[in-house]
Amino acid sequence: MKKYYICSVLFLLTCGVMHLRAQEADAWTMSRMRLRTHVSFLASDSLAGRLIGTEGNLIAGEYIADCFADAGLDEYNGTGYFHYFDVKLPSAVPDIPLAVIEGCNVIGVLPGTDPVLKAEFIVIGAHYDHLGKATRGSGEKQSIYNGADDNASGTAVLIELAGKLQEKGGLARTVVFAAFDGEEQGLLGSKQFLIDSLFPRESIRIMISLDMVGYYRTSGVLKILGTGTLDDARALLPKTKALRVRFIPYEISPFSATDTKPFASAGIPTLHITTGSSSPYHKEEDESEKVDYEGLTAVTNYVQNLVTALGKHTSLTPSGNYAVIHHVPSSLFSWGPAWALGTNRFVHTKGALEGKTAFYASLGADFRFLWKGFLELNPGIGVEYVGARHAPYPGSSYMNQMHMLALGVPLSLRVYFPEFNKLPVGVYAWATTYYRYYLAGQTFDPGFVFTDVFRRHEWGLGLGLGVRASVFQVGFETRWGMTGLFRPGVLQGYNVKNSTQTIRFSYFF
Ligand SMILES: [Zn+2]
Repeated sequence: MKKYYICSVLFLLTCGVMHLRAQEADAWTMSRMRLRTHVSFLASDSLAGRLIGTEGNLIAGEYIADCFADAGLDEYNGTGYFHYFDVKLPSAVPDIPLAVIEGCNVIGVLPGTDPVLKAEFIVIGAHYDHLGKATRGSGEKQSIYNGADDNASGTAVLIELAGKLQEKGGLARTVVFAAFDGEEQGLLGSKQFLIDSLFPRESIRIMISLDMVGYYRTSGVLKILGTGTLDDARALLPKTKALRVRFIPYEISPFSATDTKPFASAGIPTLHITTGSSSPYHKEEDESEKVDYEGLTAVTNYVQNLVTALGKHTSLTPSGNYAVIHHVPSSLFSWGPAWALGTNRFVHTKGALEGKTAFYASLGADFRFLWKGFLELNPGIGVEYVGARHAPYPGSSYMNQMHMLALGVPLSLRVYFPEFNKLPVGVYAWATTYYRYYLAGQTFDPGFVFTDVFRRHEWGLGLGLGVRASVFQVGFETRWGMTGLFRPGVLQGYNVKNSTQTIRFSYFF
């Protein structure tokens, strides 16, 4: 009897577990099917690439609004999901330089359940616009950028997430679901979201951008960029065995921007969630059938857990640190004094007038045009003292001392490594081309006429590596002269070039 009883309990338990498993499997399958439906619709040819201001884009917006309504989200302002804004773009009509088109964010709200925390917002954004049609070709032949991964995938996850979080009864904090328009034209929708102060800026605790999340199978990683912007993010964010998740403290690529940027620039912690750019990025081949829906379902589940963790955590505090690319002006001009100390050497490339190292010094100014915080064009000007020690004739053991004064004009291209640049100390590398105009030269011989023997002009190339600390820079540079020093006809059969090694200091106002 007892045995029978135990058997029955075990049987019922097993049935229960199996039933739960089956339910889970069902939920997974349903979720995957819905995600596929959203991506397939948004990235279909009939929407013609969802370019801002086009009919296809409008249809996409209405589709998202319908989905938000189905999910039971509140309209963001009590009267609708649509947040319209004007965009001025260069017009094709010569008399009218600017054309005004209308952009539209789609915004739904899941109110918070905690009486206090509901006044705080978590903004989840995904841009739904894309590039439209290819400009080449016309009519039927014109091909379409359907943007399945970029960013029908993120939009689908946004919609699915709205339904799932609503089903769970919401979170302590209020969650704002924002499908942004005009991202591809320069983050227009997300910028406008903040400009129009739809939600009090100081109450937005974090912004999460889902951008290109449909290629997990190919990339093998789900990246969460920006964990350094939120206090304790690493402890707070969930771990999972279902996906390989990589936490990256800051967004570092100056070339890729997503809707996190306007929020990060406003001092709000941000996370950019992406499976990377393994998809055919901004190509016509970014089609819905290539998206990994199994991965997309797993990503949705993970993001749901992530948002749930953030939604109930007692205090979400900004770390105060932000990615350099979010906090530098797109271009910057500055200048300052520059000086260099080092050695100069004659290098015989033909003949035997080998030199020994001699002293080099320069004093001048550097001008810098910094682009996006990492690439810098750096013209300079300076007076240079170029010393030389050389054998006056082949085989001589006596070294002749020469003193030369020149005007130097270097032009450098510098690269700052952004990962280091968020710290007060950074690293940079550069390549230089320089021009030197020799003003005068002197040797032991009082009758020596510099211009009878030497050319006035020299140019060459250089490479350098340096460290920046606040407004100071110090680096090591090697320069190689590309032109011979002697006038044609002087010292037949000999060719001598300069080589300079210096420590360069500069300061920027
Ligand atoms: Zn995108």
